[in-house]
Amino acid sequence: MNVIFRQLHDTKSSTYSYLVADSATKEAVLIDPVFEHARRDAALLRELGLTLRYTLDTHVHADHVTGAWLLKESTGSRIALAAASYANGVDVPLEHGDKIHFGGRYLQARATPGHTNGCMTFVLDDSSMAFTGDALLIRGAGRTDFQQGNAHTLYHSIVEQIFTLPEDCVLYPAHDYRGLTCSSVGEEKRFNPRIGGARSETDFVGYMENLRLGHPKQMDVAVPANMSCGRIETTDAALAPDWAPLCYTYAGINEIDADWVAVHAEGLQIVDVRERNEHTGELGYITGAYLIPLSELPGRLATLDKAKPVVAVCRSGGRSAQAVAILERAGFTKTANLAGGMLEWRDQGLPIDTTRA
Ligand code: FE
Repeated sequence: MNVIFRQLHDTKSSTYSYLVADSATKEAVLIDPVFEHARRDAALLRELGLTLRYTLDTHVHADHVTGAWLLKESTGSRIALAAASYANGVDVPLEHGDKIHFGGRYLQARATPGHTNGCMTFVLDDSSMAFTGDALLIRGAGRTDFQQGNAHTLYHSIVEQIFTLPEDCVLYPAHDYRGLTCSSVGEEKRFNPRIGGARSETDFVGYMENLRLGHPKQMDVAVPANMSCGRIETTDAALAPDWAPLCYTYAGINEIDADWVAVHAEGLQIVDVRERNEHTGELGYITGAYLIPLSELPGRLATLDKAKPVVAVCRSGGRSAQAVAILERAGFTKTANLAGGMLEWRDQGLPIDTTRA
C-alpha cells in the first residue's frame, strides 16, 4: 500500500505543508496547512479524489495562521494538535505515542518539545518519513528564545525522539528559508551544524542561546489566531468569492459551470476570447457574448464593466483561463473561467448563435 505524498509551499512564511494519503482508500491527512492556502489545498484534495480525515499541526505556529479551521469548515476534517498546546477548538488532543489513522496507514505522534511545549514530530507507520515541524530543520533547529522555548529540552527531543529513527528516514521540516526540501536522519546526525557530529548538549545550548534572531513579523497575529486553530468569525470574500458557485482549481483558477452561466447570463459579461474565424465555426458562440480575441483583450479592457462579473470562454477552457488572469491583474475581482469552454457548452446542448463574425 503506497502513500500519496505532496509537499506544498507558502512563499510568504516559507512554510511547508504536507499531504499524505492512503492510495488505496483515498483517505488523507494534511500537516501544517496555511490559512491563505486553504482553497488551494481543498482543490488539490478534490482533484486527487481524496477525503481529508485530519489536519495536523506540528505546534502553535508564530509565523503563519493555520488553515485547520477553514479546512474543517470546507471538508469536514478534524483538527489534531498536541494537548500540551492548550489551544481551543482541537478535536483530537494528541499525546505522545498517539496514532493518527488514515485508511490503512497511520502517523505516530512523538512529543518533541523545546521550540514550544506542544511541538510534535509525526512519524509514518513504516518510519520511512517523519515531519519534524520546527524541532529539527534542515541543517538547523527551531529557535528556542520565545513561546516556552528551551534549548536543553529541544536537544533531548531531537537526540532521543528523532535521531533514534532509522538513518534513511526522510525528514520533512515545517520551514526552510533557503528552499531546501528534505533531509534524512543520517544526514542530520552527521552534518547538522547545531546538533550533528560531535556536538554536545552544551555546544547546542551555547549555539541556540546566541542566535539573536528578530521578532517574527506575524507573531502578534499568528499566535492568538492559532490558539483557536485559525478560526475566524467572518469569511473573507477574497478567500471564497460568493457571487457565483465557483470551483477553485489547484491551477489557481475560479471555474464556473456552463449550466449556471446559461441560466444567469443576463447578469454576466461573457467574453469569448477565441479568434474571429472560430466564432463562425460549428461551435458558434454564446448569445450576447463579447467577441474579443485573447491577443486584443489587454487593449480592450475599458469596454468591460468592473462592477459586473466577467465569465471568459474559449474552445476548451485553456485560453480563457489566461484571459481570467489578465482580467484579475487589471483589477477585475468578479471573474471566472467557463469550465470546458464551448466544447462543454455544446455537450450540454446549451443554445448557441452563429450569425455574427
Ligand atoms: Fe514555529
